Amino acid sequence: MERHEVNPLENSPLVFGRPVLPQRELLIELLDEVLASRQLSNGGVMHNRLEDALAQWVGNHVCLTSSGTMALMLALRLGNLRPGGEIITSPLSFAASAQAIEWCGFKPVFADVEHNFPTLDSKAVEKAITPNTVAILGIHFMGIACDTSALEEVANRHKLWLVFDGAQTPDVMQGEHHLAQRGDATVLSLHATKLLNTAEGGAVVVKTAEHKERLKRMRNFGLAQGQIVDIGINGKLSEIHAALGLAVFPLLPEEMRARRNLREFYSSKLANVPGVRVLCPRPNSSASHLYFALAMPENIRQACVVDATKEGIMLRDSFNLLCGPGTFFESHNIFSPTQIAVAPAIAPTLLALPMHSNISEAAAGTITAIIENCSAKHLKGQA
Ligand SMILES: *Cc1c(COP(=O)(O)O)cnc(C)c1O
Repeated sequence: MERHEVNPLENSPLVFGRPVLPQRELLIELLDEVLASRQLSNGGVMHNRLEDALAQWVGNHVCLTSSGTMALMLALRLGNLRPGGEIITSPLSFAASAQAIEWCGFKPVFADVEHNFPTLDSKAVEKAITPNTVAILGIHFMGIACDTSALEEVANRHKLWLVFDGAQTPDVMQGEHHLAQRGDATVLSLHATKLLNTAEGGAVVVKTAEHKERLKRMRNFGLAQGQIVDIGINGKLSEIHAALGLAVFPLLPEEMRARRNLREFYSSKLANVPGVRVLCPRPNSSASHLYFALAMPENIRQACVVDATKEGIMLRDSFNLLCGPGTFFESHNIFSPTQIAVAPAIAPTLLALPMHSNISEAAAGTITAIIENCSAKHLKGQA
């Protein structure tokens, strides 16, 4: 059957995120291999191949899981933490990070983010530490790495387990090293919305073979040679999902190249727009291929979303705080080194632009023109 590479309707509307679809011929070849093996799960050929490929990418031990959320839960349980203990995390994240803490029976405690980066402020973390604190869960948010060294220093000094949620930074490097090498464990998501995807899936990255062996037991009901020897759950990734990941992997270099070009285009057009700040990576980190984010006054942001929607372009503007009034974690406040927390001020200013390989230069130009216009209109209104 003929394969249609391009769906003529795909560009209308221009979506915010677009999953990298697997190479069809390779996927079918791999699925045939799965069928021939008659092994559909429990660490078959595809699973182990993908685990090896990912381990090579991040330069550390990798344990595949059924989702990023499952990976978070396993990474937290790996620390042998006191049940009911407090885990300090960021109010700026996707729902999964705080839910994983809660689901494991720990208590999320929210500490403020830095002024210049939307990630945990180590001074705020230190302020939130109590005798009940057992761990820190740092979130690399919107493609921007946490201050990993500062958080490692605090965790070491207070003997706390340190996990990083790297779901939004699958590709970020610190110099020669992948960001996922930091902390006691780093969690990746292989969800369809992320860069490398298995439709649903995740991974825990750890530093020792012992930790990997323990995770392998935990994700498989705590079993070893058929006996329960550890706390466990079913957190495995199937052969079908792993095959998907293997058929996406070869496409990543080209996808990343297209996204790098798009980032450069956005950056060059928006670097000097009044009121608009491009969220830059930390000086020691590479830029993400998953997000391109801006910060701007709330009214400019709203105008951008309205004007983009009229053009059939989806921007992402809902970065709600995880805690505080009107949220599920309503009674949880934000620990801040000063009286006024930074996170509630930053959240309503964030805007993420479409980031994938199916955006023409004309479409990218329309997007940056909308932002320039909204900035100009607003600032003129102010004068
Ligand atoms: C996507 C995401 C997750 C969860 O991943 P799933 O694979 O969907 O469970 C966790 N944390 C953050 C910050 C994410 O963006």
